Amino acid sequence: MADITDSELLIRAVLVFGWLLLLFLAERCWPYADRSKEQTAPSVGKAFRGQIFAPRIGRNLGLWFCNTLLSPLVVLPLTYWATALPWGWREGGVSGSGGLLFDLVLLDFLIYWWHRLNHELPFLWRFHEVHHLDNTLDSTSALRFHFGEVLLSALMRVVFIILLDIPLFSVFLFEILLLLATIFHHSNLRLPSFLERYLSWIIVTPSIHWVHHHALRSDTDSNYSTILSLWDRIFGSRSDTARFTGMPIGVEGFSDKSLPALLLRPFREKEKGG
Ligand SMILES: [Zn+2]
Repeated sequence: MADITDSELLIRAVLVFGWLLLLFLAERCWPYADRSKEQTAPSVGKAFRGQIFAPRIGRNLGLWFCNTLLSPLVVLPLTYWATALPWGWREGGVSGSGGLLFDLVLLDFLIYWWHRLNHELPFLWRFHEVHHLDNTLDSTSALRFHFGEVLLSALMRVVFIILLDIPLFSVFLFEILLLLATIFHHSNLRLPSFLERYLSWIIVTPSIHWVHHHALRSDTDSNYSTILSLWDRIFGSRSDTARFTGMPIGVEGFSDKSLPALLLRPFREKEKGG
């Protein structure tokens, strides 16, 4: 199969950046949790600017920048290599639009279990914890992943692409849906409650995913779904906690760190409260 073309990569970039910018502005105009009181700025204008230029946003963008460098160097070549292997056992089997839908649901199922393993295996948690140390949530939290987690995810994905003979286009489309969904469910956008309720039966909404970021370990270790919300209901990992506006966000017993400290954190021994 041919590689993804430059124009397809451009479409992906425009879609993802457009969605990120839209939600970044929307969540500041219609926020669920009011962050302006967290700023010491004396005026509304300064408070608004404070939400845009907050240090945590710089940390999230810094981590994202590292991952943006890794994508063309490691993640994309690995994906191209894995999808080009001449297994072909899916030919004439699960193919066409039905096959594409099957692949998207299958990849979402795999991401559920990968995310769950990131919480249950201490080695993986070292890297995934960096994502959870964000003490506030908004669309930029979706960009905040340690490069080690991105590399480990890429390796895991290669194994399943090879085993399950998943076509490149399915992986490419899933990546776009994954990014759009991740930006959405981390956002601080206040949705009408009826819309949030109905959407949450099908997809992961902010009210579901924010509970996953609740600084209470029993809630952090729940609500693992990424796109479809059914996996937590099927595998018994859905939290009973309802999101509330003053809900503390982060990792219970730990505080957020500077960008260099976050990059080094998985490789260091840490103490409670560190
Ligand atoms: Zn998590």
